[in-house]
Amino acid sequence: MKEWMDAIVKPAAGPGLELRQVPVPVPGPGEVLIKIHKTAICGTDVHIYNWDPWAAEHITHPPMTIGHEYVGEIAAMGEGVTGLTIGQRVSGEGHITCHRCRNCHTGNIQWCKNTNSVGVDRDGAFAEYVCIPQTNVIPIDESLDEDVVAFFDAFGNATHTALMWNLVGEDVLITGAGPIGIIASGICKYAGARRVIITDLNDYRLDLARKMGVDYAVNTGREDLKEVMAKAGLTEGFDVGLEMSGNAAAFRQMCSVMRNGGKISLLGLGKPMVEVPMNDIICKGLTLQGIYGRKMDNWHQMSYMVQGGLDLHPVITHRFHYTDFEKGFAAMNSGMSGKVVLDWTK
Ligand SMILES: [Zn+2]
Repeated sequence: MKEWMDAIVKPAAGPGLELRQVPVPVPGPGEVLIKIHKTAICGTDVHIYNWDPWAAEHITHPPMTIGHEYVGEIAAMGEGVTGLTIGQRVSGEGHITCHRCRNCHTGNIQWCKNTNSVGVDRDGAFAEYVCIPQTNVIPIDESLDEDVVAFFDAFGNATHTALMWNLVGEDVLITGAGPIGIIASGICKYAGARRVIITDLNDYRLDLARKMGVDYAVNTGREDLKEVMAKAGLTEGFDVGLEMSGNAAAFRQMCSVMRNGGKISLLGLGKPMVEVPMNDIICKGLTLQGIYGRKMDNWHQMSYMVQGGLDLHPVITHRFHYTDFEKGFAAMNSGMSGKVVLDWTK
């Protein structure tokens, strides 16, 4: 085992990232060292790259390695690790949880009050190796394409948001055609929704959603959503809403086109304080569910959906070697991208 490795590091408070040599982590008791094969860039990583107010608040101790979407193989195991083998293909749940709080005790690790995030609160996976507790290791079947598994973390957010509600035969509105919204549109079609309509202002990303099989991809900057609904045969409004834009105007529009009794899950983080249409929410009897992270069970559902035929390749737009990470972040920042995958195998 070598002692030093390449890693993509936030060197200090401020914009930018740096490829530098850092020590290979040594797995302690109950920990697993994973040799990285592929990683994917998340919106969170872009916030950290750009050093916006969110990053300045959350990245409290640079220098640190970032990144949390990855697939690789087990390279070493600490004392007491059982049931895993060296060379086994794995990914990892990025929220390191306490196993002690009430939510952890009921299996709702996504609501742990003491959560610690890989690539935000502790060293991440944009490196040749990452070290995580055994409890966070997710075995990945060899039949799955690593380019897709690289972004299972984001796929997990989409799965958690979409599968919160019954989708069979339902009409679904997704606001926000970022990579997670695009993935969610594929999940909704796979899960049996009748009509899936996605809205955004970015034509490039709306086109990716069309490739994913969405029924209507609507640019609300120039198209009337209600006209599209009429064309799609919606008479009472949407049954299910997935808010993935973090944009208050999009959320208000969603509330205005939901049917009475509709269900909304909220994933998109935006400004912390926004005006919401209270009368729509109350008088229509809407249910709102905040979504954070993913359930451990979502990891199983993801593998099985892909094996069952859900093809996520349309969302992958760029592949680079990790030494070209700057090109990957430029693609993400341009808005002309879906998922960007970085290769660490060569
Ligand atoms: Zn906990």
